[in-house]
Amino acid sequence: MSSTLSVLEPATEEVLAEIPRAGVEQVDEAVAAATAALPAWRALDPGARARLLHALADNLAAHTEELAVTEARNAGKAIADARGEMQMVRDTFRYYAGAPERLLGDTIPVAGGQAFTVREPVGVVGLITPWNFPLAIAAWKLGPALAAGNTVVLKPAELTPLTALRFAELAVEAGLPEGVVNVVVGPGSTCGARLVEHPGVAKIAFTGSTEVGRSIAAGAAQTIKRVTLELGGKSANVVFADADLEAAATAAPLAVFGNAGQDCCARSRILVQAEAMDEFMGHLESAVRALRVGDPLDEDTQMGPLISAGQRETVASFLEDDVNVAFRGSAPEGPGFWFAPTVLCPAAPGDRAVREEIFGPIATVIPFRDEAEAIVLANDTIYGLSGSIWTRDGARALRVARALQTGVLSINSNSSVRVTTPFGGFKQSGYGRELGPHALDAYTELKTIYYATEE
Ligand code: NAP
Ligand code: MG
Repeated sequence: MSSTLSVLEPATEEVLAEIPRAGVEQVDEAVAAATAALPAWRALDPGARARLLHALADNLAAHTEELAVTEARNAGKAIADARGEMQMVRDTFRYYAGAPERLLGDTIPVAGGQAFTVREPVGVVGLITPWNFPLAIAAWKLGPALAAGNTVVLKPAELTPLTALRFAELAVEAGLPEGVVNVVVGPGSTCGARLVEHPGVAKIAFTGSTEVGRSIAAGAAQTIKRVTLELGGKSANVVFADADLEAAATAAPLAVFGNAGQDCCARSRILVQAEAMDEFMGHLESAVRALRVGDPLDEDTQMGPLISAGQRETVASFLEDDVNVAFRGSAPEGPGFWFAPTVLCPAAPGDRAVREEIFGPIATVIPFRDEAEAIVLANDTIYGLSGSIWTRDGARALRVARALQTGVLSINSNSSVRVTTPFGGFKQSGYGRELGPHALDAYTELKTIYYATEE
């Protein structure tokens, strides 16, 4: 494998940057640097660690536009989306800057003394991240990991390493000691795998495909590493006939075509109550045709290209099956990995496009009869990450929300991820939760201390 990595711009297919490609040796060096930095970082008083995380948030805020443009160009995402992601990155560090001084423990009544718990950092944490939300997903891991006193080695996806590299510079500029944040850009099969097997790495936090997640869980078992996994999804958008159908249909396209469908939370199975199907599809068609697909750097763009030629081939393969294409939106011609948003209707529960995560702009629409069937269909998947329920019947919304086997749900909305609330999957969408107060559990070990007080 070449020791130089050519980073492409998916909207033009041109080379955006040439950077050195790391191998196993560089991973070992990064782990050594993180190990050396750990004692001082975890010993830092909580207020000082909080101030450094605030300084980092300030520095990220000062570089929002630069980072957003880099991310938009490298990942092919709409600049408006990239700006939102960079604001979320900043907010994530702000939120976790509150954590070092609030890592509370318990005191527990026992005989003969005092028992209490403290939260210790796990140590050196390996972060392995995907190309779809490169810096945002890294920040969801970096924020709680650093706040809890861990040091990290981040391996971004080779397709989108640029914002991670810039982040490491901005962290040092903000005052974080050298060695606390290390970024290694290299292939998952070598560099990622080395992090997973490295005896000096205490935990792996991974976001990516279910397939690679499985191999990471298996590899981590050798050293009993802690693992959190955020994996694929095939989320349902359940629309009942009593819903505001226009609102549900108008919101549905970006809930699956946002980020060109390369979103683990994509609501790629739209379940519509049969009697509302015609009205819903009418509104959906207008909304899909109105979607602005084009140059990521254009302020008005809502959807850019796919990440790579390979990804486009994979996505296109779903249209080779015997599928019912109801309608398609537009996409530019010429260079760039473009793919027009596509709606398949009616789709059947056994179709490949319904069962597999496509990770591209193809939505399936499936009719259902009643609440009971909607629940069965929505849960008929190996995944369980996200989902939506549209209805004006509040009791039904709550019944269905409790019945769906998924980690994050929204009612009369398609929102999934917030800095302040936990995010993560049921079933083969992974385990562990990111963001919100609960993420700190995944980056700390609970220690019980007993102090005998009897003479
Ligand atoms: P991927 O192939 O699983 O890659 C994710 C990361 O793992 C990349 O950094 C990759 O490195 C690395 N990797 C690959 N093989 C590895 C191995 N054997 N050992 C260790 N690391 C390895 O996923 P992707 O293609 O980047 O992203 C698409 C998938 O991610 C989709 O299935 C999507 O649903 C899922 N995803 C899930 C979430 C979530 O929050 N649940 C969020 C985003 C994406 P290289 O690519 O550099 O080789
Ligand atoms: Mg991959």
